[in-house]
Amino acid sequence: MALDSLTIRAEFPILAQEVNGRPLVYLDNAATSQKPRAVLEASRRYYEEINANIHRGTHHLARAATSAHEAARETVARHLNAAEAAEVIFTAGTTDGINLVASILTLSPGDEVLISTLEHHSNIVPWQMLCERSGATLKVIPCHDDGTLDQESFRGLLTERTKMTAFNWISNAFGTVNPVLEMIAAAKAAGSLVLIDAAQSTPHLAMDVQALGADFVAISGHKVYAPTGIGVLWGKREVLDALPPWRGGGEMIKEVTFAKTTYNDLPFKYEAGTPNIEGAISLAAALDFVHGIGFDAIAEHEGKLIRAAADGLSSLPGAKLYGPDDRAGALSFALEGVHHYDLGTLIDQMGVAVRTGHHCCQPLMARFGITGTTRASFAIYNTLEEVDALVKAVDRASSMLR
Ligand code: PMP
Repeated sequence: MALDSLTIRAEFPILAQEVNGRPLVYLDNAATSQKPRAVLEASRRYYEEINANIHRGTHHLARAATSAHEAARETVARHLNAAEAAEVIFTAGTTDGINLVASILTLSPGDEVLISTLEHHSNIVPWQMLCERSGATLKVIPCHDDGTLDQESFRGLLTERTKMTAFNWISNAFGTVNPVLEMIAAAKAAGSLVLIDAAQSTPHLAMDVQALGADFVAISGHKVYAPTGIGVLWGKREVLDALPPWRGGGEMIKEVTFAKTTYNDLPFKYEAGTPNIEGAISLAAALDFVHGIGFDAIAEHEGKLIRAAADGLSSLPGAKLYGPDDRAGALSFALEGVHHYDLGTLIDQMGVAVRTGHHCCQPLMARFGITGTTRASFAIYNTLEEVDALVKAVDRASSMLR
């Protein structure tokens, strides 16, 4: 069934405002998404009705908060199709999840970590830090001029020394959708662990971690209509059970003496300290909201928007689009002779919110010999009228700037 973006839009109070006397056109969804009433309500209800610290309390509120938090874990597990909820570790976000994995791995000189040119800094720097610590080597899958990864080179870079292969499902900079199933299968066949950065795919694509076949998947709640400060690291039990804990503190222990500490089972082994309880509950509300709409309807609607934006923007004089035609979520472009920062600033005057710059992908920008792009990114509440407003605003701004 086609998605009714106007009904959906009405669920997002922030979108009703004007900016500079124009209706807000929010096209910075790859940076963060807006929040529907269902999520705002879940957050408010938590603090108004059941706020308490979880797991150790004997009182009514502590039990209510604990069961809501653990029910949220079950909701996330269903969304991911995880084999068990204990494989769902709540984190602060994708960056936090990747740092967790990079921190608990032990590598040796000669070992290799393989990432791709399309990665966000959060899927580059933690691996560089791991390599610096261990003497391992970082290798990078190159990309073609159309912003897709060079699959032949990827196959060639996989060796018996590849201990970790980490790449995104959808590029936040170019909207490239990587062929994750084939890539994961190839990396697993080479004996590597695999981590998928699913920060950008989560709002757009259904996920089945058992079908994917990776060892780790990291996501951020705030990209999928949930608050900031909550995310998930999914990890295969057999892999996580064999790895050491990360941060030490309350909750992650079984027993502490000054002589020795024993560690808790999954998922608590990786959840030291008081977690973001409200965030987990709100994330579950966001996932329920998204599933209520359905990923088929989301893909159909957002696909229409991004194709219309690509058609409109590519018809403007001097326009260059980055990434392949079948991009998802984000559309990056440049106008000859116009700096992306000036363009973004001018169209903001017209109420249109986009992102400009390197999108935390400086090595990718360097690969294309640019300092940045202008990026429009789409969500379930965007409309074709907003795509039209974007194209008109860019057209007007470009004639003012040239
Ligand atoms: N990876 C990708 C592909 C992203 O788009 C982002 C956020 N822009 C991140 C990782 C980092 O996510 P967070 O800042 O929520 O930790």
